[in-house]
Amino acid sequence: MDVNVLSEKENVKSKGPGEDFILEVKNLKKYFPIKDGILQKTVGHVKAVDGLNLNIKKGETFGIVGESGCGKSTAGRTIIRLNKPTEGKILYKGEDITKASENQLRKSIRKDIQMIFQDPFASLNPRKTLGKTLMEPLEAHQLYKNKKERMDRVKELLDVVGLDPSYFTRYPHEFSGGQRQRIGIARALALNPELIIADEAVSALDVSIQSQIINLMKDLQEKFNLTYIFISHDLSVVRHISDRVAVMYLGNLMELADKDSLYSEPLHPYSKALLSAVPVPKKKGEEQRERIVLEGDIPNPANPPKGCVFHTRCPVAMDVCKEVVPTFKEEKPNHYVACHLYN
Ligand code: SF4
Repeated sequence: MDVNVLSEKENVKSKGPGEDFILEVKNLKKYFPIKDGILQKTVGHVKAVDGLNLNIKKGETFGIVGESGCGKSTAGRTIIRLNKPTEGKILYKGEDITKASENQLRKSIRKDIQMIFQDPFASLNPRKTLGKTLMEPLEAHQLYKNKKERMDRVKELLDVVGLDPSYFTRYPHEFSGGQRQRIGIARALALNPELIIADEAVSALDVSIQSQIINLMKDLQEKFNLTYIFISHDLSVVRHISDRVAVMYLGNLMELADKDSLYSEPLHPYSKALLSAVPVPKKKGEEQRERIVLEGDIPNPANPPKGCVFHTRCPVAMDVCKEVVPTFKEEKPNHYVACHLYN
């Protein structure tokens, strides 16, 4: 059986009454080939995402956390089809976009799903003014009747993200880190998306600026009825913004729960270790956690361990963990975990 693959029955709850999934990800895999020799023969694969199952509810913020290299960013890029999936299915509003051509994607998700990256500066052309950069997607998708309308839209966008519309004629180097991330958000909003994937969107910013950007994102979510997938290694930030949180390790989901449930009662040994290592402010009723130090590094995703992929670092691993892949199952209402301690 594939690692962590949920059966349809066990999947992260099928649609309940009144529940509208904007995005469904089923057994998604993204393997990158490892090439070697003069002939560049494929000698193996890096299993960056290895059987991911997610259902994202409309209007929620779904956090994905994990250490660097756990596959969370690759998952985000594959969901938005910047990477071609190796296997599995991606359904956007029920429509299968897994194998859609770029032309088909342009008509569907290229407007509806947008991404915010860690370093917006890297994707801004230093020789173009902010206005020109933000008008580009509007022109590419032939939105608005003329240049004047597009300029008005861009000025409106700047205002919405808290930037002065007079910045229209400025160049990227004239902005601070926080302002650049506001520009990244404005660009993501330009095409009126429904789902935004934010990949380490505030990781490069100072703590005070981080909270400004998070608060802006929350305001925009309410104003425009947005759904977010918020990817970060920072558990404190994820807690601040998310409704539900998934913990990823070596391309697999280890745990998934409502935010409060995950932070107050983590079940998976990996989640417990992550939460013990960061200064997450405790809420009433939460106990002070003992620091759990994980030994070793994340194993090579080209050669993941057999059985539970976490067993080489798990402080409570058992013999069965070395051989048998734990099933991802609902241990408590809406709280899922992949661990033999609960099987
Ligand atoms: Fe640890 Fe075993 Fe649970 Fe994996 S399945 S997290 S190795 S106890």
